[in-house]
Amino acid sequence: MTGNREIDSILQRAADGGRITPGEALLLYTEAPFHALGEAADTVRRRRYPDGIVTYLIDRNINYTNVCVTACKFCAFFRAPKHGEGWAHPMEEILHRCAEAVDLGATQVMLQGGHHPEFGVEYYEQLFSGVKAAYPQLAIHSIGPSEILHMAKVSGVSIEEAVLRIKAAGLDSIAGAGAEMLPDRPRKAIAPLKESGARWIEVMATAHRNGLSSTATMMMGTGETNAERIEHIRMIRDCQDLAVANGYRDDAVETSHDVGGFRAFIPWTYQPENNHLKGRTQATTMEYLRFIAVSRLFFDNVAHLQASWLTTGKDVGQLSLHIGVDDLGSIMLEENVISSAGARHRSNLHELIWMIRSAGRVPAQRDTLYRHLAVHRTEADDPTDDRVVSHFSSIAMPEGGRQNLPLVDVK
Ligand code: SF4
Repeated sequence: MTGNREIDSILQRAADGGRITPGEALLLYTEAPFHALGEAADTVRRRRYPDGIVTYLIDRNINYTNVCVTACKFCAFFRAPKHGEGWAHPMEEILHRCAEAVDLGATQVMLQGGHHPEFGVEYYEQLFSGVKAAYPQLAIHSIGPSEILHMAKVSGVSIEEAVLRIKAAGLDSIAGAGAEMLPDRPRKAIAPLKESGARWIEVMATAHRNGLSSTATMMMGTGETNAERIEHIRMIRDCQDLAVANGYRDDAVETSHDVGGFRAFIPWTYQPENNHLKGRTQATTMEYLRFIAVSRLFFDNVAHLQASWLTTGKDVGQLSLHIGVDDLGSIMLEENVISSAGARHRSNLHELIWMIRSAGRVPAQRDTLYRHLAVHRTEADDPTDDRVVSHFSSIAMPEGGRQNLPLVDVK
């Protein structure tokens, strides 16, 4: 108890599984004592996951092109069309990287890239069907609403047609990328050429309605207000209410009650290197941790909460396991986008498992839909592959990070 009757009452209701309003979430975010906030969020996590399991994933982010017409101010990855450093990988290169990922035990690939002016729905159909045909065991959890809007525009088709066609080609799940900040004011300030937050939500709702589930992200720390952070999660929760009310399901799962719509929420912190925004602002560790806890309390309709150890560091990622988080995400066999803006945290399979176990939780490898593939109850159950480590090829690292990338060279 905090001694503040209003805050105590909201925390109790949220911890008991009740719904809190955006105004109440803002009050908790700005006023609630950290220990009480974290305790309430952990109560929710324990009720949802009484087995104490915290999951992780083995996947590889594969970038097909860095050419982009959208020029977001926070992005260190893209190059404008005709820029000398622009590239697009041929299919053989992408398949080569998929093969390496499979060899290292990956169950998922995240195909990400810029808004290439010539890449319409047809390009993505070839990309996804090519990967699916060669590696049907890999879940394709890829692209985001802004890529879908871009490809629909290039090909002159509706959002729904684009979604249905790329799903038929092999896309299994839409990544929550491109959410950044959904409310208009902060979104226009950092990504003036990107679609609105309302359009981002519209694409996700279209995908959910058509049996494709997704995740949702948020990038903190580019000058948004606390109220705008809460508005961001309000927009996502409202969209998920629609999925729940209409009984949307992921087509890949017949019986689960919680995988339709948004499966997880993943906040991360803006990285200020090598981009036009630079180091203007950055969310503090406490702002991040408080937001993690508030998110767990606010999202009574989203099953999973993931910590971003890549941007906040492994100790913060581990701390988040005590305030509502039930998933540490991917080992990231390859990541080039956020690392290009300065995120240098790396890990390996043994360390990720150790982070979970030493926080008093049970580590488990999951798949894209959060189904447990292996539960490591004791050290005897742990995997032994030393090759499963994070790799970056990042302009933020010496030599572009190439010394850390024995997989394949990036051209
Ligand atoms: S964040 Fe995505 S859309 Fe924005 S400039 Fe970078 S690659 Fe393009």
